[in-house]
Amino acid sequence: MTSSVVELKKGPSHEASRAEAREAIHHLKPPVDAAHLLHKNLVEFPDYRRIPSYKDVPEEQFLDHHWQSKKSITRPDKLIEAIQSLVPEAFLKDAVAGFANSPMSVRVSPYLMSLIDWEHPYEDPLRTQFIPVASRLLPDHPKLDLDSLHEQEDAPVPGLTHRYVDKALFLPLDTCPVYCRFCTRSYAVGIDTEQVEKVNLKVDAERWEMAFRYIAERPELEDIVVSGGDAYNLRAEQITLIGERLLKLDNIRRIRFATKGPAVMPQKILTDDPWVDAVTRIVELGRRLHKEVVIHTHFNHPNEITGITQKAMLRLFERGITVRNQSVLQRRVNDTAETMKLLVKRLGHVHVHPYYVYVHDLVKGVEDLRTTVQTAIDIEKSVRGSTAGFNTPTFVVDAPGGGGKRDAHSFERYDRETGISVYTAPSVKPGQYFLYFDPLHQLSTAVQRRWADPAEHDLMTSAAIAKAKERLR
Ligand code: SF4
Repeated sequence: MTSSVVELKKGPSHEASRAEAREAIHHLKPPVDAAHLLHKNLVEFPDYRRIPSYKDVPEEQFLDHHWQSKKSITRPDKLIEAIQSLVPEAFLKDAVAGFANSPMSVRVSPYLMSLIDWEHPYEDPLRTQFIPVASRLLPDHPKLDLDSLHEQEDAPVPGLTHRYVDKALFLPLDTCPVYCRFCTRSYAVGIDTEQVEKVNLKVDAERWEMAFRYIAERPELEDIVVSGGDAYNLRAEQITLIGERLLKLDNIRRIRFATKGPAVMPQKILTDDPWVDAVTRIVELGRRLHKEVVIHTHFNHPNEITGITQKAMLRLFERGITVRNQSVLQRRVNDTAETMKLLVKRLGHVHVHPYYVYVHDLVKGVEDLRTTVQTAIDIEKSVRGSTAGFNTPTFVVDAPGGGGKRDAHSFERYDRETGISVYTAPSVKPGQYFLYFDPLHQLSTAVQRRWADPAEHDLMTSAAIAKAKERLR
């Protein structure tokens, strides 16, 4: 075999030697055609003017986060006004009925509206996540709770969940820049809907104070997730107040500001200087105190990442701000290995670390979006190895009933026929069993009939737990 090591000479013939060296490189496999590197192939700027309501909007305005927020669609009549000339009448009726049946408020930014393929609205992965259509809704699984993760049960202070020993989840507010159909926190987030009266987690100085006091009194707490709602909707001075109060506490070592913003309204990072500066100051203050402050965000599909996203993420990167991503695995959105691999690579391309992919929680009104645990395991196997390990997400089940996040494949028992997987969480709630249920529409008709009979539920769950116990003996 030809040696691929060539000694480079210095001096006048240096350039010639370099050319020789280039010729001598022995490629073991052909380079990938740049056209196949799809993760780098971003939509630079969404073609928003094809939506009639935005056709006269200048680019500068489209980039303004205030305008994005003000023009977000929250009512069916606004949706109709925006897209009636782009979609068939039947789709509009379906969406209006979807709004009425949704447990989650609807709020969609013009940015998202401009990324949806309105020629194929039923298939579009972004429409699927944010705009409900009645014809696709499926009955909820009989084991579903509105607060399936039991966050309120583990909350010593309203809006502060302390489940893991060293970590707490602080929910300072209950609003978001958009509302996602799949939201686990539909019990509190957004305004009341026809289906659900929400738990009140509004901005409240007294409630925040109680949360800070609780955190200060718990030396084991080191890590605080500031979520919501969404940290995008905190004002700059609120980011500063929360950041400073938490960083001042000796026990706190890490803060994560959780926001879906970069995925649904990246404009804010480019145009809301006070917010970005407030986050930057807290990150820098943390660094001086040897504490880590990062952003956690929430991209689910590669189409959510555009040239605007890239500029926004590079702005944060230049300021030394780490951004990690948590996705939710959703049927017909990102439940194929190809889509997930493209998402993971594209996230890496814009300097966002893919951290987790959640198997969809049991959430009211979105059974059509859930997949099986097996789907997650299969996709994870395929994603692993497609890029660097530190950019490879872990696929987890957030165990219903408060078991916390478990590796999807770490079940004690998975009965693929009844769709029941049994997890344990020795470091969170020792001795307890946590059950996740695959969506009924993925099970055989015979098993669906069993789930339709409440008398069968205990038989199926007890059998799964008994097998899990056998395995653990
Ligand atoms: S942004 Fe987060 S908290 Fe808000 S609706 Fe979406 S998933 Fe829920």
